[in-house]
Amino acid sequence: MNEVNVVGHLINGEMVNDDVRTQAVFNPATGVAEKKVALASKQTVEQAISAAQAAFPEWRNTPAIKRARVMFRFKELLEQNTDTICRLIGEEHGKISHDAAGELQRGIENVEYACGAPELLKGEHSKNVGPNIDSWSEFQPLGVVAGITPFNFPAMVPMWMFPLAIVCGNCFILKPSERDPSSTVYIAQLLKEAGLPDGVMNVVNGDKEAVDVLLTDERIKAVSFVGSTPIAKYIYATANANGKRCQALGGAKNHAIIMPDADMDNAVNQLLGAAFGSSGERCMALSVAVAVGDEAADALVEKMTGAMKNLSVGAHDNASNDFGPVITQAHKDKVEGYITSAQNQGATIVVDGRQPQVKGYEEGFFVGATLIDGVTAGMESYLAEIFGPVLQVMRVKTMQEAMQLINDHEYGNGTCIFTRDGEAARYFSDNIQVGMVGINVPLPVPVAYHSFGGWKRSLFGDLHAYGPDGVRFYTKRKTITQRWPSSGVREGATFAFPS
Ligand code: NAD
Repeated sequence: MNEVNVVGHLINGEMVNDDVRTQAVFNPATGVAEKKVALASKQTVEQAISAAQAAFPEWRNTPAIKRARVMFRFKELLEQNTDTICRLIGEEHGKISHDAAGELQRGIENVEYACGAPELLKGEHSKNVGPNIDSWSEFQPLGVVAGITPFNFPAMVPMWMFPLAIVCGNCFILKPSERDPSSTVYIAQLLKEAGLPDGVMNVVNGDKEAVDVLLTDERIKAVSFVGSTPIAKYIYATANANGKRCQALGGAKNHAIIMPDADMDNAVNQLLGAAFGSSGERCMALSVAVAVGDEAADALVEKMTGAMKNLSVGAHDNASNDFGPVITQAHKDKVEGYITSAQNQGATIVVDGRQPQVKGYEEGFFVGATLIDGVTAGMESYLAEIFGPVLQVMRVKTMQEAMQLINDHEYGNGTCIFTRDGEAARYFSDNIQVGMVGINVPLPVPVAYHSFGGWKRSLFGDLHAYGPDGVRFYTKRKTITQRWPSSGVREGATFAFPS
């Protein structure tokens, strides 16, 4: 393999690659390992932390409006380079170009939110909290903070983190997914072109070895993580044990309730994109449809089966494809294994996407859209996050029964109800134990000026990602109480709180 194809690290404004260990990066449509990624050693990560630490004093004191101006230029550069970014996402993740553009747009919206830094960081002020005493709270940066991100949104999820962290005055170390690192590194390089001083943003590629340095080095003050639940739990526990602030977003199992009064054609259309878009490799993918009543269930399965005939799975650079391959051969095997296990445990495979034939891409990691009916709560395929283009249908008699299923599931990321009944929708949103709720909206991903986060084992920590919670996460409150006696201190000592 040509060494030119090794994706390195961005440290102190330079691309670096001194590491001995590397890992193959596949094009999942062809099944060919077209690149390698450097896996950072402890020394490499420490070098990045030192660069960030050195850049912090000056960046912290740079006026918020100047920090925001870098983000304005960065947003323009992201828009100018959309085609390159989407191609890089497509080549390593497999996402179709229109889907990659959607991901990038959602990332850009987080940059736009970060452009409001002077407003976001204004703090709180109270005059005369006592006689001639004023008090205010300001939000100071933490120092060097880290982000660890998953493969499924190599552009968007990092941009949930670093734009806001940076405008808040922090320096950042990003550890992207080692499975599709190129678009992330490319985006980070644009920050330098936007005028960001060297060392403020650094990217280290790697695996557990790199992550463990970020979790234990005392110079790292906070860690944002997005990925699977077992790793989220580990990250949260280890970061906390090392005295760091941490938010760790995990996996999901998102249910849609289909009420008997739902507009079924609309529900089917919405479910198609929400279940199979991006090959189901979204933490907000709707992977379970709970139909209330057999009539709704039968109509759903029939219409869904018809609509799925028109779906096309294929390579990223053909925009007429609806979705691409899954990320690795191992993941394809896992997804197909869950389909087989549902079948073995008594469910009906209505549309079988196992081993699809994609002409010209015979070695690709493709799984076709799959519909499974008659899934029940004890099945392995129901309990696990499949993270593939698989929609499972469950049949219940009442809305209460449907809600109980959702509330009993270990995950609580997103959910949705399809209904025409406002009272039912209101009851649902009030009582469902899930962090992000849609009413006739299948993927209720909060916009950049709200915050993103699930409940239960979908998020470890207190604050959600980006938006207002993001500002709180990347700053620490300092409250100052001030008095300026008009001519020297006139009062004697007091030994009780002034009343
Ligand atoms: P993953 O947990 O395998 O990897 C995420 C990150 O953790 C990567 O950077 C990886 O290098 C690192 N990592 C992996 N194993 C590690 C270990 N043993 N020690 C330390 N670090 C380790 O997740 P993935 O497969 O890349 O992404 C898919 C998962 O992410 C799904 O579960 C999905 O639901 C979840 N996800 C959640 C959200 C959310 O907002 N809740 C968003 C996107 C993805």
